[in-house]
Amino acid sequence: MIAIGTPSALGAGEIARAAWARWGRVISARRSGAAPVDRGDQVMVSGAMSTASQGSDALFNPTEEHRLLRDMVAEFARREVDPQAAASDVKGALNLELFRRLGDLGLLGVTIPEQDGGAGLDAVAAVIIHHELSKYDPGFCLAYLAHSMLFVNNFYHCASAEQRARYLPRTISGEWVAGMGMTEPGAGTDVLAMTTTATRDGGSFVLNGTKTYITNGCEGYCFLVYAKVDGKITAFVVDRECAGFSTSNHIDKLGMRGSTMSELIFEDCRVPAANLLGAEGSGLAHMMRNLEIERLTLAAMSVGIADRCLELMVRHAEERRAFQQPINRFGQIQRYIGEAYAMTEAAKCLTYNVARDVGPAQRNRIGSDAAKLFAAPVGKTVADYAMQVMGGAGYCREYPVERLWRDAKLLEIGGGTIEAHQKNITKDLTRAAAR
Ligand SMILES: Cc1cc2nc3c(=O)[nH]c(=O)nc-3n(C[C@H](O)[C@H](O)[C@H](O)COP(=O)(O)OP(=O)(O)OC[C@H]3O[C@@H](n4cnc5c(N)ncnc54)[C@H](O)[C@@H]3O)c2cc1C
Repeated sequence: MIAIGTPSALGAGEIARAAWARWGRVISARRSGAAPVDRGDQVMVSGAMSTASQGSDALFNPTEEHRLLRDMVAEFARREVDPQAAASDVKGALNLELFRRLGDLGLLGVTIPEQDGGAGLDAVAAVIIHHELSKYDPGFCLAYLAHSMLFVNNFYHCASAEQRARYLPRTISGEWVAGMGMTEPGAGTDVLAMTTTATRDGGSFVLNGTKTYITNGCEGYCFLVYAKVDGKITAFVVDRECAGFSTSNHIDKLGMRGSTMSELIFEDCRVPAANLLGAEGSGLAHMMRNLEIERLTLAAMSVGIADRCLELMVRHAEERRAFQQPINRFGQIQRYIGEAYAMTEAAKCLTYNVARDVGPAQRNRIGSDAAKLFAAPVGKTVADYAMQVMGGAGYCREYPVERLWRDAKLLEIGGGTIEAHQKNITKDLTRAAAR
């Protein structure tokens, strides 16, 4: 295991495989009966409740590497992420020590090629990680997403070799927390209306403007930031050393409280010209490409929330008795469970199916928009059903359902609202129909 806080001599691929081998030995020993499977009172390994999952391993775990990755992340999530989730939610804080464990496990550069220090895996692997982490702590997973998808994956595809060498080792190890600044106080869905500017001045660009709702803003050391150069959207990497850059206080929120967010403030902020990512004016293309894996992994988070809520409601409905019988004997309760199961499986299948066709060289806007448009309301609805089935117990903090219910709403807003997905899908289908 690498020492936290120092860039690793090993690539994340080697770290990941060493970690998976370790976890793999533990898990296969349990499966072979060497020790009983310790499920505690929590969720089974992904798919254990799901007949569709059992019959569709090719979709959810297309290779042995994906299966090992899922087993490892599921075990890590159950053992290390779950126990701290309620406390992080109450505090409204990112558990930084646990976040850095993701670096130890080789997960922070999951989509980065091995020769550049990453795990060399694909969008399906990214979906697996978000799916498993979100069963226990979607807020913590959002910090992971902002770091590994919005910064690391995005940065990698628009950075030069020199820029990669400066920023990747320390972000992939977890020493530096990172994020991405696109949204502004006056420009969210209408992202092209952004007003942050960057003006060339000798060996620097001077940035002015404000980004808001930026996940990891409080802890982050570096950010991928979009600003307009002569009216054209351009990407930069900005870090805490840049004069004129600051962040606001933490912006408090309803859910996803295991991660923080803040404004990024640029006041005549001097960013070295060496931090321009790609060509001037190429930022929009980078943004659109990365929004696909962002939306896909946000969809996977909704699937994780739905899976966990389904499991909790099924158990509760068997254990809770009313009118001298378990409540799962009542047709109205069966309707919640049956519909929740069908919706969850449909969202899971769509998300994993789209993941097969998302990658740096594959454009699939319509697929990622559709996955998030479908999965986000499923996460919210299944959390709501679980709360209804659990009655007062579901509404109280003793169980995780009320937290997952609050977390689920964000996925209809962040990374594109459901209305934005409807708009994009209509545009793409109309274009295709006109061909
Ligand atoms: C917890 C959280 C974390 C976030 N993290 C980040 C981050 O790390 N980086 C980042 O850059 N941003 C981040 N965001 C911002 C997020 O992506 C935006 O909130 C989102 O894109 C919506 O923008 P908005 O909030 O300005 O809403 P608006 O764009 O103001 O939308 C308000 C309403 O108007 C609707 N609307 C707008 N335009 C249309 C239209 N053309 N047709 C129909 N309806 C329309 C919307 O769908 C919505 O219902 C985060 C937000 C939250 C809440």
